[in-house]
Amino acid sequence: MTAEPGGPEDRLRRFATIWSRAVYPVASTSSTRPEFERELLPLARRLREVLRARGFDAPEARAVGAALVDAHCTDPDTLARTLDCVDAYLVLYCAEEGDPEHLRARSARLQHAVAAGFAAALRERTLAEQEAIAQAALKAQGVVAEALHASEARFRAVFEGAAIGIGIADLEGNILQVNGALTRMFGLSDTGLRARRVRDWTHPDDAPQTWRLHDELVRGEREHYHVEKAFYRPDGTVLWTNLTVSLLRDADGSPQYQLALMEDTTERRLLNLRLRYEATHDALTGLPNRSFFFERLEKALAAGPGHRFGLCYLDLDGFKTVNDSLGHAAGDRLLVEVADRLQACATAPGEMVARLGGDEFVALTAGPDTGPGVDALATRIMNALLAPISVDGRELTVRGSIGVVEGPAGERSPAEVLRSADITMYRAKSAGGNRYELADPEADARVITRHGLTTALPAALERGEFFIEYQPLVHLGDGGVRGAEALVRWLHPQHGVLGPDRFIPLAEHTGLIVPLGRWVLEQSVRQARTWRERYGTGGAPAPLRINVNLSPCQLTHPGLVRDTVEILERAGVEPDALCLEVTESALIGADDDLLKPLRRLAEMGVDIALDDFGTGYSNLANLRRLPVSILKLDRSFTQSMQRFPADPVDLKIVEGIVALAHSLDLTVTVEGVETGAQAEQLRVLGCDTAQGWYYARPGPPERLHDLALVDATA
Ligand code: C2E
Ligand code: MG
Ligand code: MG
Repeated sequence: MTAEPGGPEDRLRRFATIWSRAVYPVASTSSTRPEFERELLPLARRLREVLRARGFDAPEARAVGAALVDAHCTDPDTLARTLDCVDAYLVLYCAEEGDPEHLRARSARLQHAVAAGFAAALRERTLAEQEAIAQAALKAQGVVAEALHASEARFRAVFEGAAIGIGIADLEGNILQVNGALTRMFGLSDTGLRARRVRDWTHPDDAPQTWRLHDELVRGEREHYHVEKAFYRPDGTVLWTNLTVSLLRDADGSPQYQLALMEDTTERRLLNLRLRYEATHDALTGLPNRSFFFERLEKALAAGPGHRFGLCYLDLDGFKTVNDSLGHAAGDRLLVEVADRLQACATAPGEMVARLGGDEFVALTAGPDTGPGVDALATRIMNALLAPISVDGRELTVRGSIGVVEGPAGERSPAEVLRSADITMYRAKSAGGNRYELADPEADARVITRHGLTTALPAALERGEFFIEYQPLVHLGDGGVRGAEALVRWLHPQHGVLGPDRFIPLAEHTGLIVPLGRWVLEQSVRQARTWRERYGTGGAPAPLRINVNLSPCQLTHPGLVRDTVEILERAGVEPDALCLEVTESALIGADDDLLKPLRRLAEMGVDIALDDFGTGYSNLANLRRLPVSILKLDRSFTQSMQRFPADPVDLKIVEGIVALAHSLDLTVTVEGVETGAQAEQLRVLGCDTAQGWYYARPGPPERLHDLALVDATA
């Protein structure tokens, strides 16, 4: 392919040149450098495709790693150099366009996949080589046996030419012959090696079976064995090998010599360690990462009886603000500094610090007595964050919230422990942050139930688990029932009947309140029609009306007016049979846009009531602006009348509110009337209607029939 200078093809070729220059010196290839470059070019092209593709093709990147091994780049240094080269040049030469952040992230993933593919291919190759060595050993056994008895020269050629280290010793362990490869591996001369005995080559990392297998072999009880074994070189460094030892017998079949074949695996081992390190550590801070932490937590929780664990789960307060205002680079530097400080907090045996991701860190401690230890650890962490962190010449104050869990090993799974820590951390955060809290099973259970309820809400609506109770609204003047407030309940399959305070906030939070509210409205309006058909005409002092509560989210929902009109029309109910209750707090500071739908509804004849009035500290003068026609005095006013004699100031306040409301043409309803005395008191003060246990608790719609009936016939 001809490459126009500076064009994509030319740039790709330049990348391949740089790559081949970097890797060639350590590749065990017989090609020349330009030939080698031509071998790398297709691989470079594949890397470019992976870098640019929309989705990340991990198998393809791994295949490139494997292809390197096929191209005789088996020295681990080739991988290191390849990764450096990809890191520095791939994006530069192979991406014409794209978001730099995205390309960097893609390049990092690509490097990981290449490394993984390389390691896997190398491992496979090693297994194949081991097989080949075993074969060679068998052959050599024959060759040596032959050689010892016949052709010494032929044996010498195999022995000296072999790329793997070969040594022959007698059964007492005296080393008789070694080849050049072996002397190079050990960094010892031929005589130096032969001066040592086999038994001198012990190493602290020897597997328990290593010497047992050896003894069995020299006793003639086994023909060969294979182990991974370390040796000290004279300079103190360690040589790791794949070692295969075979027994050589003489012509009569009696054991005579031991033959050792060794492959140097030191570099590969280092590479594996490095890959393992990379897989278990966070690239930014160098701390152990999430998967490493889980390993350790699992271990701590699996420790036998008498062991305990303690966990601090830290989330920085307001870290997002730092990221958003100073940029991600500044955020990164802050995290690195925090990581350093945390690390210094957990240096005792059994303690570790890890980064779970983002601005979340954990500190773990394990041992027989972690109770006071974990407290001290949390305190150390809080103290470590006290001093401001200097980033780009700015002094940033860092605060954090910590959830602390401590307990005996063997009772909970890692996921359960982490969930408890997470919940507790959020408790610390919602208490204002900059503190640590201790886990509390009851608080955990509440959150878990809350969470469970939240996720169960949508299905509950579909399954018809909600129902409505009605509480009558009574006229204080004549004692007649004027209507009822619809109050929703949830018949939960496990928890039984739940009041609205348990689930309305959750439904508001998830948005389910809109369909749920619509359902309540539909049911209630239908109920109103039934009442009107039965009692509305002829008998009852006034047609029965229905009050339905509206959440703030429903107020801002664009379908409010349309849905309400539709529901009323479908049920054949006049708008004046409906009263929507909106809390005072939802309307504080409401602008005209928010009030528009309510105003539309009010114009159509729907009453709007201001619920829980007196709790929201709204400006009384504001009432004029609102399209409301009813004030519902909050229960707290009624409660203060329970005392006898009632506080004269409270009475004055209620009297004042009633007078003001009436002057604005508003009807006043009182909530929470529990005694006859209260009812009388409120009547005297001028309130119009009342609601409360004194008349009836919320109940099924039939109950209201009875009340209204009694009323109508009285
Ligand atoms: P609310 O609108 O102020 O409803 C009055 C609450 O006072 C009801 O509580 C009622 O059972 C209770 N109550 C009535 N009389 C008495 C009494 O004499 N003494 C005492 N101590 N309490 C009395 P509930 O049913 O638990 O409802 C609580 C709140 O949940 C309601 O307060 C309302 O804001 C909300 N809610 C109920 N149903 C719905 C609904 O369908 N949609 C929305 N958005 N909110 C609803
Ligand atoms: Mg209400
Ligand atoms: Mg209320």
